[in-house]
Amino acid sequence: MSSKNSAWLKEHNTRHIMHPMQDPKALRDNLPVIIESGDGVHITDVDGRRFIDCQGGLWCVNAGYGRKEIVEAVTKQMEKLAYYSLFPGSSNAPSIELSQKLIEITAEEGMAKVSFGLGGSDAVESALKIARQYWKLEGQGEKYKFISLYNGYHGLNFGGMSACGGIAWRSSYEPLMPGFIQVEGPHLYRNPFTNDPEELAEICAQIMERQIEIQGAHTVAAIIAEPIQGAGGVIVPPASYWPRLRQIADKYNVLLIADEVITGLGRSGSLFGSRGWGVKPDIMCLAKGISSGYVPLSATLVNARVAKAWENDAGFTSVYMHGYTYSGHPVSCAAGLAAIDLVLKENLAENAHVVGDYFKQRLLELKDKHRAIGDVRGKGLMIAVELVKDRTTKEPFGPEDAFPNAISESCVNNGVMVRTIVNKLIISPPLTFTKDHVDEVVSVLDQAFTLNRW
Ligand code: PMP
Repeated sequence: MSSKNSAWLKEHNTRHIMHPMQDPKALRDNLPVIIESGDGVHITDVDGRRFIDCQGGLWCVNAGYGRKEIVEAVTKQMEKLAYYSLFPGSSNAPSIELSQKLIEITAEEGMAKVSFGLGGSDAVESALKIARQYWKLEGQGEKYKFISLYNGYHGLNFGGMSACGGIAWRSSYEPLMPGFIQVEGPHLYRNPFTNDPEELAEICAQIMERQIEIQGAHTVAAIIAEPIQGAGGVIVPPASYWPRLRQIADKYNVLLIADEVITGLGRSGSLFGSRGWGVKPDIMCLAKGISSGYVPLSATLVNARVAKAWENDAGFTSVYMHGYTYSGHPVSCAAGLAAIDLVLKENLAENAHVVGDYFKQRLLELKDKHRAIGDVRGKGLMIAVELVKDRTTKEPFGPEDAFPNAISESCVNNGVMVRTIVNKLIISPPLTFTKDHVDEVVSVLDQAFTLNRW
């Protein structure tokens, strides 16, 4: 419980916080909902209003709020040992246990080693640095470039941001890092090529191949992509695309990095997004669901092929010169162990699959009723509802249009927390969601579209 009252918090909210990803003026005009507590799939704000959390925090609270198992694991660890580092000469038990657990649950992908961080941006940065060092250790240091996809989001540190495939994330901070190239990925709803999913996957695979050839495969370190693009608007590739990426990576001897920051730990309906596509990446980036958001934690996993490069005892060049004070933080790792345990024990990936399919089906019913809904897409419990001014032309609502925010505001006023990214309503609730929760949300959405006719 905050010692300050609701009015004080609202007045002071924008005074000292630089709120991420928001127009400061819009933020002054529209006060955010200040969340005070959470239980299960519900959150409550400082005014006592209760909401279904259709965002899962920020795609991260996979096991739901108030889970005693995680709280107890964290509390016990804090009491026992609040901190010790993995820097030269020391280690701590929870990080060792968690690394073992992560390797165990990714046995199918053949993962071998783990590098810890505190969030998705760290996980990506670690992956990029590992890929570059890997090629140096292999005697092919000229392989340094990364190819990613339009609409891809890889966090906002300089490396990850340089891999982002959207101008909005990049423009205020350019120039970015050299050696990062983006190509067209398969976006079924918006692409200049075809409406046929498999044909689109093949066209985009060939675009990737051509780009590698144009750059020269001897200069390319890795392809980095999300198994399902999240922040770009929940863009689900056709089933053949990721297997084609794996083939291409093998053909040209480049690494395949799966940015599983959102898709990892069950959200996409399988334990990992790449597993859902039947693909084994070389490097996997995990964050968010790894600790269900209870404390900051991320992990970058590498397979045996990559890990082996560090075993040559090459002296200084094989030092893994990357890590943070809080890499392998014992409290974060204790939370990670408890959160992963819940995801596995409660089979939350399967629940995401079943409830996600039901959610999409119910949202498609809404699409039949409300013409502003242009597209409903997703996999598991990551879903987007894309809003358009005209279904035939697919003209999207822009940042200047009030309609998308009117819909999300109407939902918030009726007890459902959803978020818009420009013209997309983003749905990513805790994976403990039930079909009854879906029905409740769909009825509030239906009402929102009825009240705010387009
Ligand atoms: N990669 C992906 C795919 C993400 O969705 C995100 C965050 N949404 C990140 C990286 C960055 O994670 P963080 O915000 O925890 O740094």
